[in-house]
Order: sequence, then C-alpha cells, then structure tokens
Amino acid sequence: MPFIPYIRIISMCLMASLVAAWSGHAHAAGEGAKAGSPAIAAAVAVESDGAKTRFKVTLSKAVTAQVSLMERPDRVIIDLPEVAFHLPQEAGRSREGLIASYRYGLFAPGRSRVVMELTQPAMVSGMTTAPDATGAATILTIELSRTEREEFRRAAVENPAAKEASAAPLAQETKDARPVIMIDPGHGGIDPGANASSGSILEKDLVLSFAQRLRKKLEDSGRYKIIMTRDQDVFVSLGDRVRAARAAQADLFISVHADSISGGQEVRGLTVYTGSERASDADSARLADRENKADAVAGVESVDMPDDVSDILMELTLRETRGFSHNFAGRLVGEFDSVARLNKNPHRQARFQVLRAHDVPSVLVELGYLSSQKDLDLLMSEEWRAKMVSAMSVAVDRFFAARFARRGTAAVLP
Ligand code: ZN
Repeated sequence: MPFIPYIRIISMCLMASLVAAWSGHAHAAGEGAKAGSPAIAAAVAVESDGAKTRFKVTLSKAVTAQVSLMERPDRVIIDLPEVAFHLPQEAGRSREGLIASYRYGLFAPGRSRVVMELTQPAMVSGMTTAPDATGAATILTIELSRTEREEFRRAAVENPAAKEASAAPLAQETKDARPVIMIDPGHGGIDPGANASSGSILEKDLVLSFAQRLRKKLEDSGRYKIIMTRDQDVFVSLGDRVRAARAAQADLFISVHADSISGGQEVRGLTVYTGSERASDADSARLADRENKADAVAGVESVDMPDDVSDILMELTLRETRGFSHNFAGRLVGEFDSVARLNKNPHRQARFQVLRAHDVPSVLVELGYLSSQKDLDLLMSEEWRAKMVSAMSVAVDRFFAARFARRGTAAVLP
C-alpha cells in the first residue's frame, strides 16, 4: 500500500530561519565529551529585563540550533540535535518575562526540541554562544524581544521551512498472514502526557512500559504480528500514529494512556474509549480535547483529517470499522471486569484524533488515573500489569476468533 500522507501536518512557522552553527570545537566541551554522544544540557536560566528575555542553556558541547515561531498558542520552538536534558524536575514550569513556561525533550530520533510558551508575542532578536566561566561548557543564549501581534503572525506564517513531521512511523514491513496489531503508547519525548501529583511519574513512561509488556504477551502467543507506534521515549504526532496503522494495514489499533484529573482522589478506574463524532458525555469530550492537544504540546500543527467521509464506500467502511471497534471494546471491558476496577461507565466514546482511521478498528484504553494514589499504586505494580496484559490478550484472542469464524477463514487461533 503506498504511503499516502493521510493527515497534513502543517507547521505554520519559522521566522526567517535563524540558524546558528558553531564550529563544534571552538568553545566545546572538555575531554569527557565524545564526538558521537549527545550534548548534555546541565542548566537553564531565564533572565528578563524590560522588553527582553534571555533563555540560557548550558551545554556540554556546541550544537546547531534553529528557531521558529508558532501561533495559537504563541510559541518559540528551538530545534536541536539530540540533547540529553539533565535539568531539575521543576525546570520550565515558572513564568519569567516573555516566557510563560517551556518544555523540552526528544522530538524524533536524533533530534531534540525546546518549546516555549510565550506570555505575549515576541521575536527571537538574538542567538549567541559563549564559553561558560569554567571554559568547559558552552552557553547558548536565545534572546526574545516583545513584538506586535501582526509582526509575530507574519513571521510565524511567512516561512514554513521548518515543516517537519515527527518520528517516521515504524510500520513499513510487509504483511504476513497473521493479524497485525498496532500498539500505540501515548505521548512520548517532548510530550510527557499526564503526570502524578508528585511529578515524578509520567504518563509517557508508564504507558510505554505497559505497551512493551502487552507486545511481549501477544508476540509470545505467535498468533499476531505486533507493531508499536513508538518503542522509545520519542515524540510521534497523532497523525503519524494513525498513518502508521493504516500503512501497516493493521487489523487492530490499541492506544494506551493513563489520565489525570485535578481535585479528585476518588475518581478512579479503567475506561475503554472508541471514536465517535459525538462524545458520550462531557468528561469524555474534555479528555479527548486534552489528548488531542499532544501535537500542540510538541510544536506540531496538525490539521483536522480530511476524512470527512465524503465517499459512500468510505462511510460504509467506517461504519463497519466502528462496529468492530465497539465489539473489541466490549470484549476488553468484559475481560477487565474481573481483574480491574472499572470506571463507572467503562466504555465511552469521544472524538479522539488517534482513533480516526476509517478502516482500522481502534480503541483507546485509559488504564487509570495518575491523580489517584490507589490507581497509581496499581499502575506501578508488576502483578496488576501482568493481570491486565493477560486480560487484554484474552480479549484480543476472542475478538479475532469471532472475526475469523465470521469470515470462515481457516482458524489462525487455537
Ligand atoms: Zn494520554
């Protein structure tokens, strides 16, 4: 199947691509730094005076940085080669001058990114590099200056050169006879997802390790071909996740998340979502909105999919696919029921971007709430994870057994 861009990822951005390149050694790091290893960011300082704000990051070696601007919300994006961020947990959370907050992390293999949310429109008015006081490290300074809305908009729109998709989907292998299951650990890299109140446990890490267990369980059965949208701490856009599932001609797509809710230790339990234009309730709609912001968090503008199902065949396919998605969601809830604490309405629907492939049955599992200590304890427990993964693999077996029975295909299953 040709790899058709199914979603347009538009990054409306890039001010006159300010590129600063440094000769890798002039101010470069001490002897410890090997040529191939990523630069280490050991400290960040944000200073402001009047109309200017300076963002200073201390790096173990010089790197090439590229900046761009994005609107709604107003952001400055700094693209870097891979950088290992060794920063305190609270880095980026407090407002200073023109910077409301900033995030950082791996954006794609070999590429890191810093996304600053602005308090008001601002331009990058300078980018410099200088050795730090010890001479062993390099300080990269990015200076922001206040600007007018119109000027900011023009700079953000005029030069779309930084348009780059996120990590390439991992799904280009040829199909074997077994059903293909795409497991989709939510978030990743620069997008941490939800976090526990302590801030030390992140959704992106938790769902990746859960997804890896699920993959192993399903792979060990020998009955399925398993693909992951990501298998490391890297950002993958929502569009790329869907595109990868379609390119792999996946027979099932399982997205794994763990939610968080403010002000409610008592809100607990697991929920299975399927895609729908209409949300089953206001909470589901809010959750879908939150999850759909993942691209904006990473500084990628994803345009709504052009799958407004104009075509009657597509609509029929979508209807059939939604039926399969519902069927699988029902089986999942049935299996989870005996081993997990379920949300009071465990199968819900909402307009999740990641569940919009019209021809791949798709569900999104919210394993529980990181905001609930009881859920968090379960999510971290090996025993609980093993039980959940087993329940899911039983649901998968039953789902495919029923599908193959219906088609009259030779049993792939025991
Ligand atoms: Zn999530």
